[in-house]
Amino acid sequence: MPSYVIPDKCDGCKALDKTACQYVCPNDLMVLIEETKKAYNQEPEMCWECYSCVKICPTQAIEVRGYADFVPMGASVTPMVSTDSIMWTVKFRNGTLKRFKFPIRTTPEGKAVPDGGYPTGTDDLKSPVLYTEPESTRCQDLPKVK
Ligand code: SF4
Ligand code: SF4
Repeated sequence: MPSYVIPDKCDGCKALDKTACQYVCPNDLMVLIEETKKAYNQEPEMCWECYSCVKICPTQAIEVRGYADFVPMGASVTPMVSTDSIMWTVKFRNGTLKRFKFPIRTTPEGKAVPDGGYPTGTDDLKSPVLYTEPESTRCQDLPKVK
């Protein structure tokens, strides 16, 4: 099932120039009805079910079918994103709720090291190994072809 906007929950992102779901959809599927300030998926058959709009919607107004590997048939799933984690709430057909929380980054915001700690600028282009090797592979003696 493609994404579906629940009209009662959508507030049109409070009339910003571009709504969050419009901004994030990789296929430009989301549009906003100016009169009602409600969004909808204009081409459901083109939806990749990528979950981007579902995750970014500030009011949890968008639903997408849950993938069978983590949501059983007939259940619904709602993600809630915070700055460091995402909480998935799965509601089963019998009403049971289960929640799963996962970190979405391993380093605090603003603390990521762009080159991963491996200085760039090497001119050793003829070397067959990556410039982070052997430190990054943690294997000092790489196997050699005989
Ligand atoms: Fe509505 Fe959510 Fe889209 Fe904002 S992101 S317009 S609240 S569906
Ligand atoms: Fe676009 Fe992905 Fe949302 Fe489908 S699930 S409408 S492809 S952002």
